[in-house]
Amino acid sequence: MKYQVAIIGGGPAGYTAAEAAGRAGLSVVLFEKRALGGVCLNEGCIPTKTLLYSAKVFDTARHAQKYAVATAEPSFDLAKIIARKQKVVRKLVLGIKSKLTGCGVHIVTGEAVIADKNHVQCGEEVYECDNLLLCTGSETFIPPIPGVESVPYWTHRDALDSKTLPQSLIIVGGGVIGMEFASFFNSLGTQVTVVEMMDEILGGMDRELSALLRADYAKRGITFLTSTKVVSLEGDEQAVRVAVENAGGPAVLEAEKVLLSVGRRPVTKGFGLENLDLQKTERGQLCVDSHMQTSVSGVYACGDLTGFSLLAHTAVREAEVAVHHIAGVADEMSYRAIPGVVYTNPEIAGVGETEESLQRKGIACRTVKLPMAYSGRFVAENEGVNGVCKLILGENDVILGAHVLGNPASEIITLAGMTISLGLTAGQWARMVFPHPTVGEIFKEACAESR
Ligand SMILES: Cc1cc2nc3c(=O)[nH]c(=O)nc-3n(C[C@H](O)[C@H](O)[C@H](O)COP(=O)(O)OP(=O)(O)OC[C@H]3O[C@@H](n4cnc5c(N)ncnc54)[C@H](O)[C@@H]3O)c2cc1C
Repeated sequence: MKYQVAIIGGGPAGYTAAEAAGRAGLSVVLFEKRALGGVCLNEGCIPTKTLLYSAKVFDTARHAQKYAVATAEPSFDLAKIIARKQKVVRKLVLGIKSKLTGCGVHIVTGEAVIADKNHVQCGEEVYECDNLLLCTGSETFIPPIPGVESVPYWTHRDALDSKTLPQSLIIVGGGVIGMEFASFFNSLGTQVTVVEMMDEILGGMDRELSALLRADYAKRGITFLTSTKVVSLEGDEQAVRVAVENAGGPAVLEAEKVLLSVGRRPVTKGFGLENLDLQKTERGQLCVDSHMQTSVSGVYACGDLTGFSLLAHTAVREAEVAVHHIAGVADEMSYRAIPGVVYTNPEIAGVGETEESLQRKGIACRTVKLPMAYSGRFVAENEGVNGVCKLILGENDVILGAHVLGNPASEIITLAGMTISLGLTAGQWARMVFPHPTVGEIFKEACAESR
């Protein structure tokens, strides 16, 4: 069987590429060994956000009196929350499948192995292709902490499927995934401790906003241990003990469960990648050009496999760029305006540069900072909640970065991303008409304030 495009991996990168190539009239085969939709749909973006939404509804119900609404004592059913999450995932996975078949994509279930750049084997079958897209994604990194092999630790998969609520949970890693689970379990009443090796949670996000979010969750009962290293683990199904070390000396934390969430790493082994002899960076990442093409012509790599950003929307855009190159449509990948969002409650989102990243690059900038209360809609919908919006301006007041702490940061950050992509100045952005009242108007206010 011969195809113009063969794609290994059916996550956001793979299914986007397959759909785009199918729509472009190319013959496409897509290999997926686990579940169509990849990590994002089955065990990442969508399931976490579904659980977090239930937690948010519960939080809102508990605090309904702030909005002059009386409710009986709210409660939740964790098994039903998990069941709803499965239903949402099933629905979306079916949607992807029907879109792909609608575009004529041949979906092959099974583990694909690369023989050479024009041949992929899956089971007994060998598939010939003109172009090969590698979209194998990433996997959880389990740190080699002494004792880890004998402790029944949780990864995100276990945390997503546990139908019983742990009384206490230690989360090792205060990054995005760790903080989203911290938020979920804290809302439902678990005693959560977050252990982070760096001196602040959410590395890569705006440092000041991350600290504000941390302080907010600390008030709600989460214990944070930053600049703290986990040195060993021990325990069983009843309790785990996590030995840590920080400037205060050694200590042992105990909880019912421990969730390891220290990062993810690209899947580069077990599918014959070595048969392609692709060029790698010093850090071992695959080298790709601005069309997502590797050092071998006709072989592309997209999504978490490249190790650039480990975000689904980056994977989607990279896949579009790769397929455009194959189809002869002018396009190039840019990482200048990739939004990052943490779906805690409140959410935190940022796009472009932070003050810290510019400082590292030695680029001068000006920061405009406003309380979210400058947006009437935010005040109407966030009783007793503070938030912050920050714009980072470069030379001639060009927008270089935007950062928001407050709901719905995830929705409004796209406005800033578009502005950064287009290279607009604060003055140009301020001339856009924003619907009133919306939380997004905060950006117009910030631009006005910058004058
Ligand atoms: C808990 C969690 C929450 C997350 N939340 C968000 C979020 O809110 N927003 C966001 O942008 N990102 C989020 N992410 C990250 C997001 O899931 C990934 O960035 C995204 O899934 C990457 O897409 P991908 O297509 O590169 O890889 P993946 O989604 O990992 O898909 C790769 C696919 O390739 C398949 N595969 C691998 N090797 C083979 C082979 N040899 N043969 C056949 N198939 C193969 C795998 O089975 C897998 O299905 C989250 C991740 C986690 C773990």
